[in-house]
Amino acid sequence: MRYDIAIIGTGPAGVSAAITAALRNKTVLLLGSAELSPKMRRAHLVRNYPGLPEISGSALADAMKAHLNAMEIPVTEDRITAVYAMGDYFALQGENLYESRSVILASGIVNGKTLPGENELLGRGVSWCATCDASLYRGKKVVVIGYDTEQEKEADFLSEVVSEITYIPMYAGETHLKREISVLREIPKEIRSDEAGRHVCFGERTLDADGVFVLRNAVAADRLVPGLETEGPHVKTDAMMRTNLPGLFACGDIAGRPYQYVKSAGQGNIAALSAVDYLAEQEK
Ligand SMILES: Cc1cc2nc3c(=O)[nH]c(=O)nc-3n(C[C@H](O)[C@H](O)[C@H](O)COP(=O)(O)OP(=O)(O)OC[C@H]3O[C@@H](n4cnc5c(N)ncnc54)[C@H](O)[C@@H]3O)c2cc1C
Repeated sequence: MRYDIAIIGTGPAGVSAAITAALRNKTVLLLGSAELSPKMRRAHLVRNYPGLPEISGSALADAMKAHLNAMEIPVTEDRITAVYAMGDYFALQGENLYESRSVILASGIVNGKTLPGENELLGRGVSWCATCDASLYRGKKVVVIGYDTEQEKEADFLSEVVSEITYIPMYAGETHLKREISVLREIPKEIRSDEAGRHVCFGERTLDADGVFVLRNAVAADRLVPGLETEGPHVKTDAMMRTNLPGLFACGDIAGRPYQYVKSAGQGNIAALSAVDYLAEQEK
């Protein structure tokens, strides 16, 4: 099936875009997490969302989930690792392959800079996607560097496939891994590679592995979409949330500061309306 609008990200920006697109009778593919956004879930108390004077981030996320359910907009749980402009449509690569006439990027901001060596070794012993690359490391030894509790599910999944796994949480607080996985609380400084394999370096000490999974909630935008114009970690957009690629829109944290729920939701609405206009133009 070729969708009218594919939305990558289930924070307030993506949810708002999905609601507006559905109200405008477009076929919508909303990609992200059934829990919506760990960033939302983590906020203790939100006091600047109009109409909801004091609400926890988790309750706000539940309210958005209920809104999606009421409108029968499903969340497809898949992590998109690449978006390709194919002319009159886009191909989105995740665990599955999707096609859409337009795309709204609402994937939030990347937590943390890439590690030295990470970009260079991507696809050569370093992976950003457990689901996509697990089979390459069947029976092998891997290190998983997880930037959010959401990545623990992927580490659990990987542990079913590989022979040995070390999980490095890049966040404070307890881990809730379901399987027996050794956890190392040390901040890696670099990833290196040589004939003997991959090495996660912590200064003097190294941890050796066949593969290193670096799992973040969001992938850097210009990595996700080849040819997309960015400015630092942000996608360049105009006031209508259009990017330099026709048919591709960006909204929320990924489109720039301030990082706020209501601004993200507002931009999601604009992006969806711009996508609707774009589709109408294409049909002329
Ligand atoms: C602790 C904390 C407290 C905060 N408190 C407030 C507050 O009180 N008020 C306020 O206005 N703002 C607050 N913020 C900021 C707010 O959380 C963000 O501005 C907002 O969540 C951004 O929304 P978003 O939709 O752009 O992205 P996010 O909420 O980050 O959602 C993006 C989601 O997209 C999904 N995703 C990412 N990449 C992919 C991919 N490749 N494929 C599929 N899915 C993907 C992930 O599930 C991700 O969670 C707070 C943030 C934090 C961390």
